[in-house]
Order: sequence, then structure tokens, then C-alpha cells
Amino acid sequence: MTLLRKNQIVELDITGMTAQGAGVGHWEGMAVFTPLTAPGDRVRVRVVKVAKNYGFGRLEEVLSPSPDRVEPDCPCFAQCGGCCYRHISYQAELKVKEARVRDALERIGGFHDLPLRPILGADRRDGYRNKALLPLGVDKQGALTMGFYAVNSHRIVDCPYCRLQPEVFHRAMNAFREWAGKYGDPVYQEESHSGRMRRLYLRYGEQTGQVMACVVVNGNGLHHEEELVSALRKAVPGLASVVINSNRDRTNVALGQSCRTIYGADVIQDTLCGLQFRLSPLSFYQVNRTQAERLYQLAAKYASLTGNELLLDLYCGAGTIGLSMANRAKRLLGVEIIPEAVENARENARLNGVENGEFFCGDAAKAAQMLAQRGERPDVVILDPPRKGCDPELIRTVAGYQPQRIVYVSCDPATLARDLKLFAELGYPPQEASPVDMFPATSHVETVALLTRNP
Ligand code: SAH
Repeated sequence: MTLLRKNQIVELDITGMTAQGAGVGHWEGMAVFTPLTAPGDRVRVRVVKVAKNYGFGRLEEVLSPSPDRVEPDCPCFAQCGGCCYRHISYQAELKVKEARVRDALERIGGFHDLPLRPILGADRRDGYRNKALLPLGVDKQGALTMGFYAVNSHRIVDCPYCRLQPEVFHRAMNAFREWAGKYGDPVYQEESHSGRMRRLYLRYGEQTGQVMACVVVNGNGLHHEEELVSALRKAVPGLASVVINSNRDRTNVALGQSCRTIYGADVIQDTLCGLQFRLSPLSFYQVNRTQAERLYQLAAKYASLTGNELLLDLYCGAGTIGLSMANRAKRLLGVEIIPEAVENARENARLNGVENGEFFCGDAAKAAQMLAQRGERPDVVILDPPRKGCDPELIRTVAGYQPQRIVYVSCDPATLARDLKLFAELGYPPQEASPVDMFPATSHVETVALLTRNP
């Protein structure tokens, strides 16, 4: 077998896509991953890295374009690490995402016959994000840069305009840039852990129009906070809250633990599934509100509550999924690790007149065990873990409740497939799964799966 060499130029037919959105082609049996190519392309690539069984390529030339190709509509595309599918049509993107879920369920989970519903695409591919966490930096001329990290790096790509964001974020970004030019403290430098301004963090309640602007600082505050507030108030309609978040740690974690409100409310409010939700800066909230409603509708369909069930919502964030179903359950229990989110969940229950809900703060695995010891026997369990999925201990505890149904909401097909396998071994095989596109143009794909007890 000939070996692939670095800098070698090869011609490839792109036949698939990786989870990160790079095209896959084969050269003498070896897989070569090349960003910015599309299934159906014939391309010439330069090999930039070689591992034992695969290599990485850089696109040199498209020899024959895939019929799915479209002209990318953003100058930052391929530079910032945000979108990876602006060069193919949305239909093609959805196909890639569906295939990724199917592939993970088959290869990692071993589920070859699991019915997979067609992916639920979004009506809007742009402007759907209600949250931005923009790292700040300085360019060679000393001017503020603000945008997104390049792929696999901490180099900031300045993006004055991001199509995924709502218009109002650009107003906030411009006002912040202008304020920073006059009054801003030094920008934080990762290498030396010096400087102050780390990130601009924006949130938008799409239904209420409320905007929260938060500056993450290496310290307790900023000079000229008042001027910042008045600049934002002037530029941003719906500005409801300005917050300083302190993050003094030498860390990649974006937000610190403590927040201080310098204008308006400590929370912003939004409407989801007909309910009101208050959200603190530290609480998770679904980034694509419109698709979140569809995701929750699917979860509700799978939960098929009749009014007699004890419903357990694990990884509940600000309580959104459970609260949206509480009127169809007898009781609701929620578990979440971030204290502010748990406080939000309790307040959100009150706000919406939900009286049958109880929320616990803690690690899902430990809390699930505590609930079992208390003698709780949930009939329906909802799981919505972060990308790393569930702890095996948690899976055993949940199966041990012997619920009728488990609804698993996942943002990573690989960990979903891994966890479904363990659930199946414990008597809870998956019945059906539905991919949902919560993040158009990016590599992410969400899946909801229904698991029921073996008869
Ligand atoms: N279901 C919610 C939140 C999902 S995001 C919604 O739809 O909005 C996942 C949530 O899990 C986050 O709120 C995160 O803070 C929480 N989380 C992460 N690790 C956890 C753990 N070990 N135990 C409990 N909750 C955890």
C-alpha cells in the first residue's frame, strides 16, 4: 500500500461528511478529511496532516462541483469556527445531519432497525440564535476585535456581522465597540492572564424583545460602566439588563460564578410553548427558540402523559421542558446542577401557576439516587444532558425506577448512541428517534429518542 505523504496533492471524490462538517474522500483506501468540500464533489486537495489510517487535506481546487453546492453568503465563512455548511444547500445539510444520526445509532449503538423519523428542519436558517458569547481581543493596530474563535484554535476572527444572530446583537456589538474605543479597559490576554475585558455576552428574548448585555471581566468591574450603560441604552431597543460577570480564572470556561447587575433586571424574560420564562445569565436556555418549541412538542409526544404520571426532568436548566408538560402530569420533579438555573426553574413554576413541581439542585446522577432512596418512582423520565451524555450510574438508577417511558433529548449523536445501548441492555430499547435541526449552518444536530420498557 502506498502511503499518503504530507504536501502530496491528491484527487478525491467526496462521498461523506464528518461530524465536524469536513468532506470525506478515499485515497488508496485511506480516508482523507477535507473541510469545505461537499458530498458529490471531485476535488484536488493538498495533504496537510497524515495519521496512521487517515489524513487531512486542504482544498486546492474543485474539479467538478457537487450539485448541492451554493455560493457561501458570509465573508467570515471558513474562517470563524461557527458555520460549516454555508457552501451547500439547506436540503443537503439536512441530509448530512440525518445521516450522521443514523450512522452513530448504527455504528456506536448497534441499532440497525431503529425507526428514524425524517429530520425536522428549520424554517429560518439565519438570525435564529438568541445568545452570543463573543471573545474579545486586539488586532496588530491595537483595535478591539470581537467575534468567534477560528476552528480548533483560540485565534479570534473578527466578525462584525454574523448571519446567525438577530439584528439587535449587531447594534449591541457596535455600541460596545464604540464605547470600548473611548473608555474600555485593557482586553484580557489569555497567555499572560492579564487585562480585563474577556467577552461580550448577549441574550435575546425573541418573543418579549428583551435584551441582556453582559461583559465578562477578569476582575470585579469596569471603569466607565455608566457610559457603557448609556451607550447600550441608546443603541439597543429592548435593553432590559446589563450585567458584569466576574471570571478571574485562568480557564476556557466562558462565564464566572458571580454576576452584578448594573442596569435593569437580573434576568430577562421570554415566552416558550406559551409559558413565561425568566433566565439569569448563568442559566441555560435553548439557543434556537422556534426549533426548541418543536423539540419540546416531540418530547411531549414521546412522553405521552395522561395526567397521572410522576414526571422527572433531569438536566432541567431553567425548568423549560418539564414546566411545558406539567399540566399533563400529576407531579413534576426537576434536577439541575447550576444553582441560578434551579432558582429560575422554581420562579418560573410560580410565574406560570405550576403548583405540582419541585426542583432540586445537584448532580443528576446523585440526585436521581437520592430520589430513589426517597421512594420516588417516576413514570416518565426526560433526560437532556450536555454533550458528554449521561453517567452510566445515572442510567442504571433511571432504569431502576422502572419507568414506563424515557425520553432522551441529546445534542450529540455519538453519546446518545452509547447511552441508548446501555439503556437497551437494562431493558429499555429505543423505539424511535427524531433528529431536529436546532443549529442550521453549523455542525450540531439534536435528537429526541423514545425508550420504553421491555414487556
Ligand atoms: N433541559 C433544559 C437544559 C438542557 S442543557 C432545556 O431544554 O433548556 C443541559 C443542562 O444540564 C444545563 O442546564 C446544565 O447546567 C445541566 N447540567 C450539566 N451537568 C449536569 C449534571 N451533572 N447534573 C445536573 N445537571 C447538569
